[in-house]
Amino acid sequence: MIFSQVALAPADPILGLTDTFKADPRADKVNLGVGIYKNEAGQTPVLNSVKKAETKLLSEETTKNYLGIEGVQAYNGAVQTLLFGTGSALVTAERAMTAQAPGGTGALRIAAEFLVRNTHARNIWISNPTWANHQNIFDTAGLTVKEYGYYRAESHDIDFDAMMTDLSQAAAGDVVLLHGCCHNPTGIDLNAAQWQAVAELCRDRSLLPLFDFAYQGFGAGIEEDAQGLRLVAALVPELLVANSFSKNFGLYNERIGAVTLVAKDKATAVTAFSQIKRTIRSNYSNPPAHGALIVSTILTDAALRNEWEAELAEMRNRIAEMRTLFVSSLKAHGVTQDFSFISRQNGMFSFSGLNKEQVNRLRDEFGVYIVGSGRISVAGMTKSNMDAICKAIACVL
Ligand code: PMP
Repeated sequence: MIFSQVALAPADPILGLTDTFKADPRADKVNLGVGIYKNEAGQTPVLNSVKKAETKLLSEETTKNYLGIEGVQAYNGAVQTLLFGTGSALVTAERAMTAQAPGGTGALRIAAEFLVRNTHARNIWISNPTWANHQNIFDTAGLTVKEYGYYRAESHDIDFDAMMTDLSQAAAGDVVLLHGCCHNPTGIDLNAAQWQAVAELCRDRSLLPLFDFAYQGFGAGIEEDAQGLRLVAALVPELLVANSFSKNFGLYNERIGAVTLVAKDKATAVTAFSQIKRTIRSNYSNPPAHGALIVSTILTDAALRNEWEAELAEMRNRIAEMRTLFVSSLKAHGVTQDFSFISRQNGMFSFSGLNKEQVNRLRDEFGVYIVGSGRISVAGMTKSNMDAICKAIACVL
């Protein structure tokens, strides 16, 4: 028998938690595990700009013919403008080429497989800690995963010295995974001077930056959040970007993102990109259309774009408000420990510093689900569930 030889896979640390949450019969349970934005009513609604774009698409659609391997052309152009800014020199010089991908995950996987099959790159450096799926994606694609220090638990802050020391061990041709903004899980990003230092290190030691850019617009704003990427792109000759629209357009189940390759010149970009296309062809042939058409419709229509930017700002501001409320509610529940660092973190997550045992107690005794690392999705907090969450945390501390 073939299938009886197969070992049971471990549950995914994040999506597996959602399964346990769903099976929990308690009515007052709260899921702060998976990174999904919820509004004040605890829902993850379709954005109005998205609904309008979909209505337009439905009435104007004339065919379900295949897309090209790289997906919707207008979408790929719009992605480059979002990433590198209007009038970007590298875009004008045609050094960047973009292919639509099934989510940020699909983009990362295509980038990794492209590197393994076509370049000498064998090692990828990821931050410790990082998004739980990074190791899995890169391992599966055939890269060797190494870690660089990133976080200092005692001060709840970045350990930039460790990051630079570890990355200076990397060999020429190694890949460095960088979170564009809203680092998952810590919520702590590099400042401009630190980005500059990382860019110089990559340039001087011939390391290839691979940006994972899943939260553009969830930190300080659409342009502000691209600061690190743009700074690095201005200094290094080549890089890759895997971006996602799951969060900033709320298009989680449409699986829409992109992989962008930037080369030293147009000719190199065209040749290298031909292998990205080949990688896509051998995986899923060509991408689905709907998510890309939604995003390109919104980004190329002034009114829809304005509406989307306002909706994105609303999501960003609500999360920021929840951070402040979280800190003050903990205090109100008698927590004396300083949690003010939570209001300095960016994006959906807060790295709380809660340990495994406390995380387990939150789940078992209070029905509050957070990831084992202590990562809390602040985007799942609301004014109505905040009290119960903080009360539970105060009990397990
Ligand atoms: N990278 C990071 C850092 C993420 O947090 C996520 C989503 N949780 C992704 C990539 C993947 O996003 P997608 O759902 O678009 O595949």
